[in-house]
Amino acid sequence: MAAVVIEKRSELTTVTPMMKQYLEIKAEYEGYILFYRLGDFYECFFEDAVVASKVLDLVLTGRECGDGKRAAMCGVPFHKADVFIGKLVEQGYKVGICEQVEDPKQAVGLVKREVIRVVTPGTVTDAELLREGQNNFLASIYFGNECAGLCFADISTGDVFTTYIDGNDTVQRLKNEISAYNPSEAIINVADQDCAEIVEFLKDKSHSLVNTGMRRLFAYDKCRELVKSVFADEIDRLANPEHVMAVGALLAYIKETQKCEITFAREIKVYSKGQYLEFDYNTRRNLELTESMRNKEKKGSLLWVLDKTKTAMGARLLRSWLLKPLLNPVQIGKRQAAVGDLVKNRMLRDELTELLSNSLDLERLTAKAVYGTANARDLRSIFLSIERLPAIKSVIMQKSENLKELASRIDTLDDIADLLGKSIVDNPPYTIREGGMIRDGFNEDLDYYRGIKTNGTNIMTSIEQKEREETGIKTLKVDYNKVFGYYIEVTKSLIDQVPDRYVRKQTLTNCERYITGELKEMENTIFSADEKIVGLEYELFSGLREVIAENNERIRNTAALIAEIDVYRSFAEVADKNGYVCPEVDLSYDLVIKDGRHPVVEKFVTDSYFVPNDTVLDVTDNKVMIITGPNMAGKSTYMRQVAIITIMAQIGSYVPAKDARIGIVDKVFTRVGASDDLASGQSTFMLEMNEVAAILKNATKRSLIIYDEVGRGTSTFDGMSIARSVVEYTYSKKIGAKTLFATHYHELTDMEEEFPGIVNYNIAAKKRGDSITFLRKIVRGGTDDSYGIEVAKLAGVPNEVVKRAREILKDIESGSHIAVGHNVVKKDDTDDLFAGFVTSVNDEVADKLRTVDINTMTPIEAMNLLFELKKMLKE
Ligand code: ADP
Ligand code: MG
Repeated sequence: MAAVVIEKRSELTTVTPMMKQYLEIKAEYEGYILFYRLGDFYECFFEDAVVASKVLDLVLTGRECGDGKRAAMCGVPFHKADVFIGKLVEQGYKVGICEQVEDPKQAVGLVKREVIRVVTPGTVTDAELLREGQNNFLASIYFGNECAGLCFADISTGDVFTTYIDGNDTVQRLKNEISAYNPSEAIINVADQDCAEIVEFLKDKSHSLVNTGMRRLFAYDKCRELVKSVFADEIDRLANPEHVMAVGALLAYIKETQKCEITFAREIKVYSKGQYLEFDYNTRRNLELTESMRNKEKKGSLLWVLDKTKTAMGARLLRSWLLKPLLNPVQIGKRQAAVGDLVKNRMLRDELTELLSNSLDLERLTAKAVYGTANARDLRSIFLSIERLPAIKSVIMQKSENLKELASRIDTLDDIADLLGKSIVDNPPYTIREGGMIRDGFNEDLDYYRGIKTNGTNIMTSIEQKEREETGIKTLKVDYNKVFGYYIEVTKSLIDQVPDRYVRKQTLTNCERYITGELKEMENTIFSADEKIVGLEYELFSGLREVIAENNERIRNTAALIAEIDVYRSFAEVADKNGYVCPEVDLSYDLVIKDGRHPVVEKFVTDSYFVPNDTVLDVTDNKVMIITGPNMAGKSTYMRQVAIITIMAQIGSYVPAKDARIGIVDKVFTRVGASDDLASGQSTFMLEMNEVAAILKNATKRSLIIYDEVGRGTSTFDGMSIARSVVEYTYSKKIGAKTLFATHYHELTDMEEEFPGIVNYNIAAKKRGDSITFLRKIVRGGTDDSYGIEVAKLAGVPNEVVKRAREILKDIESGSHIAVGHNVVKKDDTDDLFAGFVTSVNDEVADKLRTVDINTMTPIEAMNLLFELKKMLKE
């Protein structure tokens, strides 16, 4: 009988020596799936095996582990491990790779094993496991009492950002920061239960792997030392010990996982409140900045419209700009000027497009060199990308005034281009252990051995020639077989002419085979040449990779400049193609847009054309816009368009309008539509009020607020009262922010009379007979016609219901409504009311009967039809 297979380590009592080793190593790597090297396989045991077999779709087997029991086990071939590791990491697991660290042949007893590398979602450097145009951030959070130190790093590009927040809205702002970076992994000092809300947010919104209770990494003294060693004096820019601990713990974690010194970054970007426009998770989502709300795809988002970058570095930079718009008009102006040059100079733009088109991901490729995982293809890609630098630099220097300064800082890396150009072949192989990477002429020794290898047969031929002449045996030949290697063959009849220096090796019926010292030596040279070539190539390649690693800062600085140029080029192209203008950005409180459009919706309106609309907002006479209008009129689109244009202006992009003047906005808030967060357990209304509360607490006079039908989630009178009170508060001195408020409560239009600065608008629709035409034009004044019935009809609500709704509406409007009860349809009346409907069912049954052909029906089909008709009558 097969031994019992156990899935838990705790069920084990006595163990085999190998299992003992496994358990010891595993104990140090709790929380990791341990890949334990056994021969040509990596094996997982126990709990790990259960998880891995499920995630990787592997067969779960067992292995003798002592006690007459078998440990649950599954394994992957070592040469395919990367794919499997990638899958696990993608699913949010951490993997530890445990190797044999001594030669099994020389090992006494059990082979020594060690974890040589761990891979976690936030510390991946493999390009294959990363999304191209997107950063992969690891977050470190020091969570304190009403304060938090934060650090986000992408070790695949070397980007490190850090900030410190405090105050009673720390949790809220922490969430905002998290949603700007979308980290794939986080480390937090405190335990799960002490930061449950953050952990939930990380898991739910960012799909992060969360490591809580990592207090050990956040030890202050060690953190301080580490931060100093990596970022030197930059440490003085960190706010306080909590801030230092967040950065230090991040570095400690990277050091621990990468098992090497930290060289991936030299620069840390410290920022604080007031440097970037703030918006919360909901706003980012509602405005569909980077992904559409419906299917969470890039298509349909603002990023989708704006991102026409040609490089992965540019794509990442554009994305990060979009999530962190600026507040400083001077900085914004600089970006606009750069874009402006590229809008005006079409030729320059096209040249850059061409030059950037085949540029590869310099940042990540260089990072791979730093981590020692780059192969010859990666170095070739680096070469191809830097080869273009001189052309990029010179074309900009010649043709652009506003990009000149930036271009002047491009290091064209001529020395590196030269080195890589003459060393790495055009199409190097994927592996670095089989040669074929280095060009002829780069290294003398290599050329020599290659010469021997390729000329091997020629040399043997010349030996043959020489031996024939020396011995006078014309039929002597040099040949080769697998068993004896190279030999000289002489026919039996001529063996007395063979000189003494020949050593007999083999006797055949017709001939004798010999070797000579020279032959043997040549043979050795040929055989070892191949080995030498492979070894030498590896050595040379490693040296080249080292050079890249040493120059990593230079390369990355230039890569960052290229990314920036790519973003400007993208902005310019989008502006030109879509007819955007350069907005005037200043520190006023005004928002004046002429003929503004929604950059994304306009792409989807294909059957008609997108109707542009004006906007005038300020903090005096036009503080609050109350927007009414029927469903589907375009209220939500209009309000979002105002927010999006503002954001576009503050990232330095041109905007979809004829003319725009944007006074810097510090925060954008949105409370849009019915929330689909029902799954989270909170009622929609509760969520809505949560969001409203956050707005009322955090908005300032400089903010822009969008309320889309606030109050809808409760009864009419409640809702209306809340809506009005929210408007009043927002309008008041307490906030006084620019506000757009779309509502169904026409009663709110009365506020215009009472409060100067509250202005009524409506989005016009025209009734023609029974139907309705949307004009999409926003005009002054309120409207009290919601055309709800017309929209219902448009949506395909049965005619009878629409008709009845009109009757009810008429009753209500004529004053005979007087609440429920009076107008309730009594049960007996229904037949009468819906008489038309019943008739139509009868018609349908008749129609159906008319169309069937009884002659071709089987009895069963006839029965089914009868059943169906009967059912139709019942409904
Ligand atoms: P509301 O919020 O008033 O119910 P929406 O803003 O959701 O209406 O708009 C409904 C649809 O009308 C949009 O999906 C879009 O297709 C179209 N639409 C909105 N504004 C415009 C416009 N200015 N020009 C053309 N079509 C528009
Ligand atoms: Mg709407």
